[in-house]
Amino acid sequence: MTIQQISDKVVNGGRVNASEAVVTYIIDRNVNYTNVCVARCAFCAFYRPVGSPEGYVLGFDELFRKIDETIAVGGVQLLLQGGHNPDLPIEWYEDLFRAIKQRYPEFRLHALSPPEVIHLSRLSQQPVPAVLDRLIAAGMDSVPGGGAEILVDRVRKLLHCYGKASADEWLDVMRHAHKKGLRTTATMMYGTVETQEERIEHMMRLRDLQDETGGFTAFITWSYQPEHTEHGGFEETGVDYLRTLALARIVLDNFDNLQASWVTQGGKVGQLSLAFGANDMGSVMIEENVVRAAGAAYCMDELEIVVNIEDAGFAAKRRNMHYEILGDPIFREREVPRMLALATARADGDTSIPAELRNYEAKSRHGKQLRLTQ
Ligand code: SF4
Repeated sequence: MTIQQISDKVVNGGRVNASEAVVTYIIDRNVNYTNVCVARCAFCAFYRPVGSPEGYVLGFDELFRKIDETIAVGGVQLLLQGGHNPDLPIEWYEDLFRAIKQRYPEFRLHALSPPEVIHLSRLSQQPVPAVLDRLIAAGMDSVPGGGAEILVDRVRKLLHCYGKASADEWLDVMRHAHKKGLRTTATMMYGTVETQEERIEHMMRLRDLQDETGGFTAFITWSYQPEHTEHGGFEETGVDYLRTLALARIVLDNFDNLQASWVTQGGKVGQLSLAFGANDMGSVMIEENVVRAAGAAYCMDELEIVVNIEDAGFAAKRRNMHYEILGDPIFREREVPRMLALATARADGDTSIPAELRNYEAKSRHGKQLRLTQ
């Protein structure tokens, strides 16, 4: 049942039943396969330029290990995103997706935000629909809504993220994905240079596309995290977060689900979000690299997420990316290891280069040299 149907029922004097008074969450793992990026967005503390000694690409084996750990705690998918690395051609992604699907046929790949798809389109000189077709054939299941920031080109130009994707380009990738039957999420990172009106414009553009395709499953918003970024500045308050969330709940009347961003706001504001329009606690956080690089990354494992949901008066239910209920908390069904600290993409000081990289053509001078010495 959708939020609208539940709302209509209540407005008409009905009562919600137990199955409708739930808050969902997903167990998945947020993995960043590379931090090397040519986009260089002004708000990003995560990326490293080509040739940086701190740049990394994860090997297939490292990714398999992360999937094994995810499955061990009841996880069902990878949220796979990374930098725009000129030395990873589309064949690398296809081979990775195929290898994952071969080993883990049931495991889902919520992979590659629209700017990454555009990057691959430019790198391979193929149109976006053809790139999506190739990725879908290799195993991509759904598209995460990252890289939207604020879908207003004035803002994108000021934040140096217009080059990676204009507002229209971001929306166009999602339109193509929806038309090909993929479900996607949508995001908004606010609190940089945008006006209040531009936040609304962002929501309106998402709402229009949702009216057109119905392909978005959820909306997730979070505040800009300023530490170690070129843009600098301050983080917006928790009150502003809750107001923005509540506004989104009203404006995005055709979105079934709103996620609480407890990773940037903390568990207690995350819990409060459930009274300000959110009906989902997002993902159990096993690993985080992007927000942590900018100075914030709260950690909650399944037990803590469930306690926060239940203390707020809701039943906690595990879901998949399509918001289908998978069941009750997994730790009540079997023993799972507690995750009290966030994993990172790589251990500190690990500068190893995956052996399989030598099979793929590099585009940067640095990458070409590395392949020769591998
Ligand atoms: S936000 Fe993404 S695209 Fe922009 S610099 Fe960071 S990693 Fe690159």
